Amino acid sequence: MNLILLGPPGSGKGTQGKRLGEFLKIPQISTGDILRQALENKTALGLKAKGYMERGALVPDEVIIGVMEERLGQADCSGGYLLDGFPRTVAQAEALEAMLTRSDCKIDRVLSLVVSQQELIQRMVGRGRADDKEEVVQQRLKVYEDQTAPLVDYYLKKGLLKVVEGMGPVEEITSRLLKSLR
Ligand code: ADP
Repeated sequence: MNLILLGPPGSGKGTQGKRLGEFLKIPQISTGDILRQALENKTALGLKAKGYMERGALVPDEVIIGVMEERLGQADCSGGYLLDGFPRTVAQAEALEAMLTRSDCKIDRVLSLVVSQQELIQRMVGRGRADDKEEVVQQRLKVYEDQTAPLVDYYLKKGLLKVVEGMGPVEEITSRLLKSLR
């Protein structure tokens, strides 16, 4: 099963993605984690991504698409995967589709986590990651609205989208997500 977890920053994609991945026994692939790891290791990718991440902008499509082409070609992805943080733009979604078509695969379901704006800001400021400073948080929310939210419609039109309420206890949200896969 190939899944996409969609949602604004702070919606719990990371937390829920890990839980769902474990439950479904498929790798959870987080572009945010890949980029933070690259940053920590000061790799070429990390150096390229650093400035964008620090100001809450998206890393350029061609960079992230290259990363994902490589990652999804690895052996552990052959039995399916859950994507967290990718695609984040329509161009990325189109590139993903092209990649999948080439290997005779497809996206099975897109789960969209919905959380109120107020709660998003509280969660992010509360977790205190380097890019969770208030100004950067506002910027990331704006980038989400402008560049990522159009994917909700994109996948709705393809008949792949399920909207899941992302507020409440972590375990409950996980069961809602699992239920929406049935
Ligand atoms: P969040 O969803 O909370 O914003 P992530 O860990 O998914 O956090 O992403 C952190 C940062 O990494 C983003 O603000 C962006 O700069 C970069 N990033 C992650 N995924 C992508 C992507 N698919 N395309 C472009 N940039 C990305």
